[in-house]
Amino acid sequence: MIGKKGGVAARQGVATKKGGRKGAAPKTFADAATVREIFSRLRAANPEPKGELEYINPYTLLVAVVLSAQATDAGVNKATRALFAAADTPQKMLGLGEERVRDYIKTIGLFRNKAKNVIALSEKLVAEHGGQVPRDAASLEALPGVGRKTANVVRNIAFGEPTIAVDTHLFRVSNRIPLARGKTPLEVEQGLMKIVPPEFLIHAHHWLILHGRYVCKARRPECEKCVIADLCASPEKTV
Ligand code: SF4
Repeated sequence: MIGKKGGVAARQGVATKKGGRKGAAPKTFADAATVREIFSRLRAANPEPKGELEYINPYTLLVAVVLSAQATDAGVNKATRALFAAADTPQKMLGLGEERVRDYIKTIGLFRNKAKNVIALSEKLVAEHGGQVPRDAASLEALPGVGRKTANVVRNIAFGEPTIAVDTHLFRVSNRIPLARGKTPLEVEQGLMKIVPPEFLIHAHHWLILHGRYVCKARRPECEKCVIADLCASPEKTV
């Protein structure tokens, strides 16, 4: 175990809030041993992490992720239980039509635009993919309302691809610890893809998202219950 005083901040030359090495440029990546130890501990605490969005099949997962933009997973689940009971394929969703889809999801932010996208992506799935969800990134990202993050979530959860979907929690946590630093989600994703050992890749984004959601929170990180506190070099650390 790496002790607090000789921890990652000192080894990396990262400036600390307690007057560490002023002027030392923060490193972009944590070193390999630290990365391995961080993921080993996150895995030990939660060996089989799961996303919190409810879904029935790859299609409903795709729709749930599209609906989850700027909304909580719990709020999306509340609306999709009834929606997916009525329509769990693109064909059935088209049968419902935009107006009824809108009714089912009206408790979710941006629901008008999201209902449009759900119908439009369903049309494209039927027209171009035989009603199936494609597994390659380019085809997924060509669907209305689907960006890189959504495509990565679907590829990871539905198809077991080792992708890292960078959401607001993961972006913050990766920059904070730091694991991989970046100014954009893409930079963080590419940085993590370089440093996360293959054995951790499939679950890496779940561990980091859950860590950010429940422990390393945006305003007040709960460092006292953090299993990687001694490895964290964040100036925001409170222990
Ligand atoms: S020690 Fe605090 S700031 Fe660092 S990862 Fe843990 S919760 Fe986040």
